[in-house]
Amino acid sequence: EEITHISQKIMQQLEEPFTIEEKEFWVSVSIGISVAPNDGNSSEILIKNADTAMYEAKEHGKNTVKFYNDEMSANSFERVVFESALKAGINNNEFEVYYQPQENLQDNSIIGFEALVRWNHPTLGLVPPDKFISIAEETKMILDIGEFVLEQSCKDIKKWHDEGLCKGRVAVNVSGIQLEHSEFAEILKHNLKKYNIDPSMIEIEVTESMVMKNPDRWISILEEIHRIGVSISIDDFGTGYSSLSYLRRLPVDTLKIDQSFIQDIPQEKDACAIVEAIINMADSLGLNTLAEGIETSQQRKYLVEKSCTHGQGYLLSRPMTSKNTYNWLKEINLEI
Ligand code: C2E
Ligand code: MG
Ligand code: MG
Repeated sequence: EEITHISQKIMQQLEEPFTIEEKEFWVSVSIGISVAPNDGNSSEILIKNADTAMYEAKEHGKNTVKFYNDEMSANSFERVVFESALKAGINNNEFEVYYQPQENLQDNSIIGFEALVRWNHPTLGLVPPDKFISIAEETKMILDIGEFVLEQSCKDIKKWHDEGLCKGRVAVNVSGIQLEHSEFAEILKHNLKKYNIDPSMIEIEVTESMVMKNPDRWISILEEIHRIGVSISIDDFGTGYSSLSYLRRLPVDTLKIDQSFIQDIPQEKDACAIVEAIINMADSLGLNTLAEGIETSQQRKYLVEKSCTHGQGYLLSRPMTSKNTYNWLKEINLEI
């Protein structure tokens, strides 16, 4: 009780904003606590465990206090093991890019592919990105993984173009960490030159939640990318909180309607209303719409009727390895 009281006092003190050069700043506090002798009997162990508790506090949102417990230690151990496996995965080239085709819903043509990364772990098997992207972001390992995905995508799209199999582009997911901590525009230019490909053969996807968290910061970076001639789409649209005035100012070409809405059309009225509103708004702003996660022909039919321009999903194809994408392209070219 005494410790809780002290930690609350610290938090209250720091709640007050402070002023530097006429600007107001706030700091948030995360406190981790370990208590001797239960949580350790040397200063080293106590500090280590308090540190673990502090990270747990951070994960529960800012301004939180957490007492250390043994479970945390197990979690942090697993985390350390996972991180080193991820690191080894990068060194051992265990990552692979899969491709999911995207179509023009109005004329059924293939507009290109989305590049989706997979991790082939020697014992865990194929690890989906949801399991490792956030840790890769926290540890900045996403910088290496992202560069690999971009380079592989450039290589593959170049090959498919050169063989006359595909006229489209490949869309690459880019994390905010890449835009913030690397010279992303330079890396992009370097790859375009290295593989001698036209900028229109690449698109980048940034998530709505990332962009809208701090749009002022991203506008100039995205503009620089757009000037190269690479198109930009906003991923998972509808799940973040877009400011419409920013949407107008961002150099964006496509809104990708999140699959959670597509799942519920045409049977749920609310989902239909949202999907229709996004399509109409995008259309008025001169943007394309791409519906993600189309699984049934009813969903597709509804989207065609509502003039959604593009789509992707299991109905057309699941994500495929590079080799299978190549064969898939050969097959559809034979059909035409
Ligand atoms: P996302 O960019 O929104 O990608 C779409 C996800 O929906 C993919 O999951 C795809 O396999 C899945 N999907 C496609 N069609 C259907 C469908 O009809 N039904 C259902 N239920 N799902 C469908 P995946 O490949 O597991 O990727 C998950 C997320 O991981 C991606 O979401 C993206 O945010 C992230 N991600 C993937 N690759 C990369 C990458 O190279 N870099 C970064 N930063 N993030 C990546
Ligand atoms: Mg995406
Ligand atoms: Mg998405």
